[in-house]
Amino acid sequence: MPPLGRCPDQDAKASEAPEDPPPGPRFALLVFLATFGDTSPMTDPRRTRDPLRLTFLGTGTSHGVPVIGCACAVCRSTDPRNRRYRPSVLVQRRGQTILVDTPPELRLQLLRAEVTRLDAILYTHTHADHLFGLDDVRVFSGHTASGLPVFGSRQTLENLRRQFYYVFIETPAAGGKPRLDLHAIEPLDRPFVVAGLDVQPVPVLHGTTPVLGFRFGNLAYVTDTNQIPPASLELLRELDVLVLDALRDRPHPTHFSLSEALEVVAELGPRRTYFTHICHDLDHAATNRRLPPGVELAYDGLIVDVP
Ligand SMILES: [Zn+2]
Ligand SMILES: [Zn+2]
Ligand SMILES: [Zn+2]
Repeated sequence: MPPLGRCPDQDAKASEAPEDPPPGPRFALLVFLATFGDTSPMTDPRRTRDPLRLTFLGTGTSHGVPVIGCACAVCRSTDPRNRRYRPSVLVQRRGQTILVDTPPELRLQLLRAEVTRLDAILYTHTHADHLFGLDDVRVFSGHTASGLPVFGSRQTLENLRRQFYYVFIETPAAGGKPRLDLHAIEPLDRPFVVAGLDVQPVPVLHGTTPVLGFRFGNLAYVTDTNQIPPASLELLRELDVLVLDALRDRPHPTHFSLSEALEVVAELGPRRTYFTHICHDLDHAATNRRLPPGVELAYDGLIVDVP
């Protein structure tokens, strides 16, 4: 186990340790029947002006919080906001629901959020904490004729095919695996439309690993990064809500620390910022008390409406 008070983030390793659902807030998400939209290129990625609903399904780093076997104050905390599943969000507009990443606790996350329908999945990258719950989307496979639309970089889709090989080989028809309709995002910063929603991919670096953030109108979700190239910073201007990686106070080779994330916030000036991918070094309430106005830690179950 990791030394107490430390947060060795091992993104590349699987850590499938589903826990009981924490006593977090319950949601009542309205998910209406809807038809999957087109995937044609769009002209203005910022044209989305209908209200968006962002739901944090998980806000923890790759270990989740509590960390298995850890007895630190945050891991033993009774504050439900200190219980963090691996990172994922839902983005909803007009009854359309997009899931970003499929972490190991996906089944528990979707049950807790009372999700009854998915229209598409977007992948940031394929580290285990963002991918290994993919099999749980089986129940949504039948909603479209060609399977559930999945978007990611060509490298992401290649990794996904390898890590979930059984999904893509001929097997007797028994419904025992998800049906997926893969779409490569090329070039990596090319906007596209999914489920009627404009999406602007935002290429960032996670150590040396390329990762995609996503902008939906005036909302952006940028996790697993410690470097945002200048061209991508320009894609993150004039935001109402920025969701950004902020692992802990101490520096890390592949994630922003809290102070590094705050520098990005100062540069971009979003109206509101929520930090995610949080490790057990950060107590929710104590950390929020020292963050500037308009910036706070997200927590599992938090719902943010974006005008
Ligand atoms: Zn990662
Ligand atoms: Zn991660
Ligand atoms: Zn701990």
